[in-house]
Amino acid sequence: SYGFSRVSDGEEKQARVNDVFHRVAERYDLMNDLMSGGLHRAWKSAMVGWLNPPRRAGWRFVDVAGGTGDVAFRIVEASGGTATGTVLDINASMLGVGEERARKRGLLPNLTFVEANAEALSLPDAAFDAYTIAFGIRNVPRIDLALAEAFRVLKPGGRFMCLEFSEVEVPVLDKFYDLWSFRAIPAIGGAVAKDRDSYQYLVESIRRFPNQANFAAMIETAGFERVRHRNLSGGIAAIHSGWKL
Ligand code: SAM
Repeated sequence: SYGFSRVSDGEEKQARVNDVFHRVAERYDLMNDLMSGGLHRAWKSAMVGWLNPPRRAGWRFVDVAGGTGDVAFRIVEASGGTATGTVLDINASMLGVGEERARKRGLLPNLTFVEANAEALSLPDAAFDAYTIAFGIRNVPRIDLALAEAFRVLKPGGRFMCLEFSEVEVPVLDKFYDLWSFRAIPAIGGAVAKDRDSYQYLVESIRRFPNQANFAAMIETAGFERVRHRNLSGGIAAIHSGWKL
């Protein structure tokens, strides 16, 4: 039912993505651990470590495509409980799981959950000290719009940080990674989440996403300065950082 020509490519892609995350929401955290061998935890810690949120009341962040809350929880904890943030996602099922996890951890006072599209944030201009997005931007049909929105909602002096799958830059590792992603991940998705096609789709979306240098250029085009990236696990994932100056 995704082949209608009357919907634009963007709408069709977003509908597919929404469907995938509605179906996987309840098993999302378990699947993340299985598919990345737990590495996603180290990668998220690396992003929050580089962000280095200050222990200062009034420091605010928005975690876009925040899903079940992992990144937001880490930021609040790294700030010693002083940071407040908005967890924003297009998908109510993912946000529902995130809100419940936040409640169990006692983090609800620090966090607000908002259902919205990264391409058109229902958030005011210049409101945040940091904008984070982890494994989210490759699912957004029009990345340039999401980056423009990131720039808009950040305060001058604010920081953009993105964690995303990227291009493996280590010879031989790329071969193992191909095997893992094209064979193992759809198989695990089929066995555990009973949804092989959704995981096949996620793997394909990783391959279509721009590499480190090309994504850095897109971030600069949106207006960010001092754009840098760090590879994780040989480039399986990368963190991009930029500043609104
Ligand atoms: N950031 C979380 C993490 O790292 O565990 C969740 C990542 S999950 C792979 C991708 C998330 O992007 C999903 O929760 C999905 O609903 C969300 N998403 C997809 N398209 C979006 C859009 N256009 N705007 C906002 N969120 C979107």
